[in-house]
This record gives sequence, structure tokens and C-alpha cells, in this order.
Amino acid sequence: MTLKDPEYNHLIPAIRAPIDGSPITRAAYVAKNRAYQVCTRCIMDTTDPEIVFDDEGVCSHCNYFEQKIRPAWPSPEDGRKKLEEMIRTVKAYGNGKRYDCIIGLSGGVDSSYIAVKVAEWGLRPLVVHVDAGWNSELAVMNIEQICRRLGFDLVTHVVNWEEMKDMQIAFLRSNLANQDVPQDHAFFAALYGYAIKSGIKYVISGSNFATESILPVSWGYEAMDATHVKAIHSRFGSRSRGDFPVISFFNHFVKYPMILKMEVLAPLNYIPYSKEDAIRILEKDYGWRYYGGKHYESRWTRFFQAYYLPYKFGYDKRKAHLSSLVLSGQLSRERALEALKVPLYDEKLLIEDKAFIAKKLGFSLEQLEDLINQPLHHYSEFPNHQRKKQILISAYRFTQMMFAIPKHVIGRSVS
Ligand SMILES: [Zn+2]
Repeated sequence: MTLKDPEYNHLIPAIRAPIDGSPITRAAYVAKNRAYQVCTRCIMDTTDPEIVFDDEGVCSHCNYFEQKIRPAWPSPEDGRKKLEEMIRTVKAYGNGKRYDCIIGLSGGVDSSYIAVKVAEWGLRPLVVHVDAGWNSELAVMNIEQICRRLGFDLVTHVVNWEEMKDMQIAFLRSNLANQDVPQDHAFFAALYGYAIKSGIKYVISGSNFATESILPVSWGYEAMDATHVKAIHSRFGSRSRGDFPVISFFNHFVKYPMILKMEVLAPLNYIPYSKEDAIRILEKDYGWRYYGGKHYESRWTRFFQAYYLPYKFGYDKRKAHLSSLVLSGQLSRERALEALKVPLYDEKLLIEDKAFIAKKLGFSLEQLEDLINQPLHHYSEFPNHQRKKQILISAYRFTQMMFAIPKHVIGRSVS
């Protein structure tokens, strides 16, 4: 495959946006004649190619949040009830078993905090950490500290580095926006695999509306698309995928949740969750230390989010993270805008990280830079499971509708 192939005719050059704190206003896949605009309520802007604004200048993310997320977010009263019910159910399920649930611990704020809460609720989790080769030393320390202090069993699944490296290089060569797919896919595929293998039904996740309600599709195509992962690897990889953890479409959407009844629970949505408070508690009571950015527990993710993505695509993920905090009332819009002025990378750290990453992937610095400066591609140019997913969703809705009819007509409960 060379860049002269006809299918590459539509490729667009890398953006090379500044990362020194100057405003990033240009981004990939945004029409050139579109005027720059920033939401009047959050700090999302036209660097999101799909963003739309209403007459008041409020963006589609804010409107989606008000229409879909806020109504689904339980009130403190309902949250308490839901949490009690969840704890009761998980405990009852775990009766006589060694573990009643499983949690994935990356060492980041959300997963570390959920580990603390799970202990507080008296649950008995098996903790799984997936080591994809990019852990910062601090992350390893944080993970060990938390588990030791909480008395939890920790299983560390180490992804074969040669396979991980090949997957990572394949994604770099694809020139796609979401370079965190290999790491994220491996995390969840391995975690869910452990849950199934250990016969544990409940996965307790640290994901939450309070800090991560916004993420534009273009900025981060979903990581759990096995069709996509395999297609990128078979096109750009150079060895067998081996044991690299992959979760198939069937297992992820049908077998695990519908046949084996595995459930992913997100109880941080049931309690008031503030990122600042969580960090304070983790630091004060558990010797945990902050990394300086969301998901920076991984050295790769730091490089990807703070350099690759903004520099090459013009996408600054801090805008989405900070906007989520604005919408959940944890941060004022002014403070969020101020936070954006901080350079994405400390210059010295960037030089160190770039050298570290190049060496770890077996590239010279020039080779890595050259890859990063290649023209961009969009996930939709590669095989993916979007059609299959739509069909499954339609089939699911149809079945729900069919069940809803007898429920309504004969007045009995159908679960
Ligand atoms: Zn907005």
C-alpha cells in the first residue's frame, strides 16, 4: 500500500495545530468556510466537525446533555435508592462466592475512586489491571497502594508487548484520530474476558456522566469495534495478532450481556461525584498521586491526547473533559477557558516522551515524526461494525416493541 493508491485521493494534510496554549481553532474535517464558533454555555467549538449551534449559540453537546443525559441521571434521592438496590443485588449474588464483582483498575482518578467506594460499600471485588506496556511508574505505584490499603486481590494481565507494539504501529500507520484504540480495546477485552472466565457477573465501572458526558464522535471513534481493530491490523500490521485481547461483536453485544447476563454497572452516577473531591480523598487517605491530566496514567495516552491529537488533527480533548465538568456544575465556564490557555505539553517533557515512545516502538525520532506528519484518515474509510450495530439496535427495539404490546394489552409484567 502506498500513498499513491487511488483510494488515498481524498486524504487531507495534517493540521499541525499549536500546542503552546494558543487557541486551537482549526481542525481536520471542518469545512474551510465554516466560521469559528464556541458554545456560549460550555467550551466546545467548531474544532468538532459535527457540532451544531442553536439560536442562542448553545451547542449540540449541551442540548444533548439536557435532553438525554440529565433526565437519565437520578436525583440524589433516587440515586441513593438505586445504589442501595445495586449493593443488595451484588451482595446477594456473591453469597458463598469468593468475589461478588470485578473492577478494572487503570490507576486513573475514576477507577481508583470506584475501588475506594466499592470497599466502602462492603463489596468483594476481584481487581484486574491490564498492563499494555505504557504504565507510568506513578500508575504502578498508585495501583499497588490502592489494592494494598483496601485489601483487594489484584490480577495484572500483561499484554504481550510485541503484539501490542505491532497493533500500536498499525494504528499509527493508519493515520486515524483515535490512537488509543489498541490500549482501550485490550483493557476492556481482557477485563470482560476475566469476568467471564472467573464466572463473575457484575463489572463495576468508574465511568460517569459527571466528568465524561461529552466526547465528539470524530475525536474518538469507539474502541470496542473488533471489525475495525482487525481490519487496521491486517492492513498495516506486520505479524500475527497472536493473543492480543480482542472482544468480538457477538461476544460484546450478544453473548456476554444477553446470554451470560454480564452487567456493567456505573454507580458513580448514583452518587454526587466530584473529580476534585475524589482526587483529594485519594491523595489524603490512600497515598495516591495525580498525573496532571485525564488518563495520563498511561504515558502513551498523555502523548496521544496532548500532542498527537491536537497537533495532527486540531482536536484538544481537554475541551470535552472541561465542558463535561462545566455541564455537571463542577467548574465555571470562565475557569474552563482559563485552563485551556495552559500549554498542552511542557516542552521538556514532550521531548522526553517523544524519545521514549519512538524508542519503545522501535523507531528513530525522525521516523516517528514522519509518521505523525502523514496525511489524515477518517475511521469510516476502514471496515467497521456500524451497520451491524444499527441492525442489532433496530432488532432490539423491534423485540422491545413486540413485548410492549402484550404487556400493555393484557396488563401483565414482562421483564
Ligand atoms: Zn455547549
